[in-house]
Amino acid sequence: VGPREGKATARDKAPASLNAVFSPGADDGDELAALAPRNAVDAARAIDAVFEGPLPVEHTLAVIKPGTADEHRAEIMREIRAHGFTIAAQRRARLSKEQVESFYEEHRGKFFFDRLTSYIASGPVIAMVLAKPGAIKSWRSLMGPTNTFKARTDAPSSLRARFGIDGTRNATHGS
Ligand code: GDP
Repeated sequence: VGPREGKATARDKAPASLNAVFSPGADDGDELAALAPRNAVDAARAIDAVFEGPLPVEHTLAVIKPGTADEHRAEIMREIRAHGFTIAAQRRARLSKEQVESFYEEHRGKFFFDRLTSYIASGPVIAMVLAKPGAIKSWRSLMGPTNTFKARTDAPSSLRARFGIDGTRNATHGS
């Protein structure tokens, strides 16, 4: 898709992008050839706004984080299936600190980055590809809020409320 500022910026920064080649205007502004949501939550919101009725099958990445992967894997996977997901792929993996840092690149520099990446690299995770209509939004909803303590108050039946330990060790990942 390319930069979202408009045609001029897109031409400058990504000349082969859709917005550089096909945007109708010549300058930056509202007229863009194509739009892309920034993340899964924006994507789900945009899909809801545009489509009515059953959504197409989506795939989403689900990860059971270290510790939880060993202790609660069976129960979490049962819950996932009970919510209508198909587990399309599944892998137990131990990630290096470098792999985890690149996975969480968007959080580099934040106060919790080192704690988070050391934790994820500390033991094996279970990575899964989940499939069902509206999978991205549905998995985030099953996980609950990022913060374990907020999950316990706001969404007590969510996975993070039930299996999260603290702000960093919040049971699962979704993207
Ligand atoms: P997610 O998509 O819900 O997992 O949330 P984020 O992408 O914002 O954060 C990634 C991960 O970093 C979270 O799942 C937590 O493990 C951790 N994290 C995020 N925010 C905080 C925070 O404020 N404090 C701590 N300790 N960890 C955090």
